[in-house]
Amino acid sequence: MKIAVVGSGYVGLVSGACFADFGHQVVCIDKDPKRIEALKQNIIPIYEPGLDDLVSTNVKQNRLSFTTSLPEGIEGAEAIFIAVGTPSRRGDGHADLQYVYAVAREIATAVKGFAVVVDKSTVPVGTADEVARIIRETNPDADVAVASNPEFLREGAAITDFKKPDRIVVGINDERARAVMTEVYRPLYLNASPLLFTDTRTAELIKYAANAFLAMKITFINEVADLCEKVGADVQQVSRGIGMDGRIGAKFLHAGPGYGGSCFPKDTLALVKIAQDNDSPIRLIETTVAVNDQRKRSMARKVEKAVGGNLRGKSVAVLGLTFKPNTDDMREAPAISIVQALLDAGAVVKAYDPVGTEQAKLVMPSGITYCADPYEAAEGASSIVIVTEWDQFRALDFGRLKGIVAEPVLVDLRNVYNPEEIARHGFQYSSIGRPGAE
Ligand code: NAD
Repeated sequence: MKIAVVGSGYVGLVSGACFADFGHQVVCIDKDPKRIEALKQNIIPIYEPGLDDLVSTNVKQNRLSFTTSLPEGIEGAEAIFIAVGTPSRRGDGHADLQYVYAVAREIATAVKGFAVVVDKSTVPVGTADEVARIIRETNPDADVAVASNPEFLREGAAITDFKKPDRIVVGINDERARAVMTEVYRPLYLNASPLLFTDTRTAELIKYAANAFLAMKITFINEVADLCEKVGADVQQVSRGIGMDGRIGAKFLHAGPGYGGSCFPKDTLALVKIAQDNDSPIRLIETTVAVNDQRKRSMARKVEKAVGGNLRGKSVAVLGLTFKPNTDDMREAPAISIVQALLDAGAVVKAYDPVGTEQAKLVMPSGITYCADPYEAAEGASSIVIVTEWDQFRALDFGRLKGIVAEPVLVDLRNVYNPEEIARHGFQYSSIGRPGAE
C-alpha cells in the first residue's frame, strides 16, 4: 500500500519509518529542505533510540523515501497522513491549526483519485470536519475521505509504542476510509493490537482526554508528594500501594518536578479551551494546568532550602535538561522554568545534558554554562540538582563528586537515589515526597 506522511518530525518520521517497516511503500514529506536533505543523507534530525537503524534499513529496501514536494510525495497514495505541529496559539492557549490547514489546502490542489486524508496531529474536536470543508472549498473535484487517527507514542520509546500500541483509534465519518485504515494497520491488527473505530469527533476527543487524564494523574501524585513531606509519609510507597489497585494502575504515579514536553502542556491547555468554548468547563484540568505551572518554579525553592536559604552567588549543577530521558526534545521542559527561577534567586547555573544541549541552547535562559559531563558541572557547586533522570545519572561517582563540589548537597527531583545510600556518601539529600529527604 502506498502511504504519504506530511510532516517528518517526532511523530511523522517515526510513523513513516514504522509503516515502511510493516511493508508499506512510504514517502515522508517535509517543507523544511534542511530536514529532508539530512534524511536523504541518512542523518536523523531528531534523537529517538533505534530510529536511525529503522530509517536506513527501510530506505535501503526502497520502501521509504523523502521529499519536500507534497504533490510528488502524495502521488498515488491511498492514505495521506497529516503529522505537522499543533502548538499552543500564542496568547490564548488554543491549538494553532494553521499548519494543518495549510497542508489540507496543498493536498486539495494536488490530490488525484480517491485518497483518505488522515489527521495524525493532535487536533481539537471538529478539525476533521474543517479539513474536509477546506479540501472541498479549495478543490470541489477532490475525492477524499477525512479520518482522525491520533497518535499515542511517547518520545524516547516511540518505535516500540508505535509497533505495540495499547490500541489504535481511528475516527471515520465516511465508510470508504474504514477499509483503507484497516489495511494501513493490518500488520498490527494481526499482532492483536485493538483497532477502535469511532466517529472523527470522538477520536479527536479521545486523544485530548487521554493526555489530560495522564497529566492529571502526574499532578495528583505530585500534590500527594507535597503532603507526604508535611506528614512524614513516603510517596514512593504510596504510589506502589495505590498503583497495585488494578482500577488505578501503577504507571504515571512517579512524583517529580511537574510535567513538561511537547504534548501535555499544550494539550491540557487546548482541552481547557475547547471545554470552555463549549460551555462545559473541565475544572479538574484547569486546576491541573495551574498546579503544574506553579510547581516547576517551586522546585528552585527546594534547592534554595537545601543550601540553607540563600542561592545568591552559589553555583548549582543542573543535571538533565530535556523534558524526559532518551529524547533531545526541550519543548516545555521543566528545566526551563527551574533554571530561570534559580537564576532569579541569584544562582550561577552550570548544566549538563547527555543529548539535549543543542536544543537547550535555543530555549534555555541565557547566562548559564553548558558542560561536557556531570563532573564539570559539579565543580565548585553548592548543590547538584537532578532534573531529568537520564540513566547516566543513576550511578554517579559520589566519591569523585565529594572531592570537587563546594558543598555536598544533592537535590534529586526524580527520586533516582535512596536517601540512606546518599547519606553514606556524606551528601545532604533532598528529594520529592520522602521522609527526611524533602
Ligand atoms: P514536530 O514539530 O517534531 O514536526 C512537525 C514537522 O512538520 C516539522 O518538521 C515541520 O517542518 C513540518 N511541517 C510543518 N508544516 C508543514 C507543511 N506545510 N508541509 C510539510 N511539512 C510541514 O512535531 P511532532 O512532535 O512530530 O508533533 C506533530 C503532531 O503530533 C502534533 O500535533 C503533536 O501534538 C502530535 N503528537 C506528538 C507526540 C510527540 O511525542 N511528539 C506524540 C503524540 C502526538
